[in-house]
Amino acid sequence: MGFLLTSGDYVAYLERTARRIAENGDYISGLDAATGDGDHWANMNLGFENLVAVGDELRAMPIDAAFRKIGMLMMSKIGGSSGILYGGGYMAASKACAGKAALDAAGLCDALEAMVKDMMNRGQAEPGMKTMIDALYPAVQRFRQGLRDGEDERAMLTAVKRAALDGAEATRDMAAVKGRASYQTNRGVGHLDPGAVTKSWQIEGLCDLLIEKTGE
Ligand code: ADP
Ligand code: MG
Repeated sequence: MGFLLTSGDYVAYLERTARRIAENGDYISGLDAATGDGDHWANMNLGFENLVAVGDELRAMPIDAAFRKIGMLMMSKIGGSSGILYGGGYMAASKACAGKAALDAAGLCDALEAMVKDMMNRGQAEPGMKTMIDALYPAVQRFRQGLRDGEDERAMLTAVKRAALDGAEATRDMAAVKGRASYQTNRGVGHLDPGAVTKSWQIEGLCDLLIEKTGE
């Protein structure tokens, strides 16, 4: 039997990730100060605080409704590009799992794939442009490949997390094409993209929670 990701699990993941983001303010703000306008941490932290605040409501919803509510909150509470991209991304994920109370591995992969596609359309971004897409896209690709190959779930989740973290790390050498970093004279080369780093932490947190679940 594979894992089943419930709204309760998702809230547990949001709470952990919110803590991690809250504890790393100087680090993430520093990344955005180097390549953008310095507000990425404040944006994400405010968004996650708002999500955690409605944790009880989210926990009681089927996963499709929880994703829709998360999307609406992120859209309305987070400023900057991140709010629009995450808001739209979660709405698309909600549509992809319409009618589902919880998600198995294939359902989660569909939801994450819908999210990354929506983000790419909305932001007119592709992998390699030094954005959050560089963490999410390779993770989704690795997820899809694992499902196709019928890979063991724990091994697959470990690889998905690795793909996100490696993807974020790879933004260091990229020249920004989208977002504020593209206005810098050197296009941010030599600096990690803050949005890719926070996205990779989200994928890592979700995979870790599911890895623990599969070990139960
Ligand atoms: P803003 O850039 O409006 O200040 P944030 O600081 O919250 O918003 O978010 C910056 C992050 O958003 C960047 O690090 C990058 O990962 C991501 N980003 C910016 N523009 C785009 C885009 N067009 N497509 C995808 N991601 C983007
Ligand atoms: Mg910013």
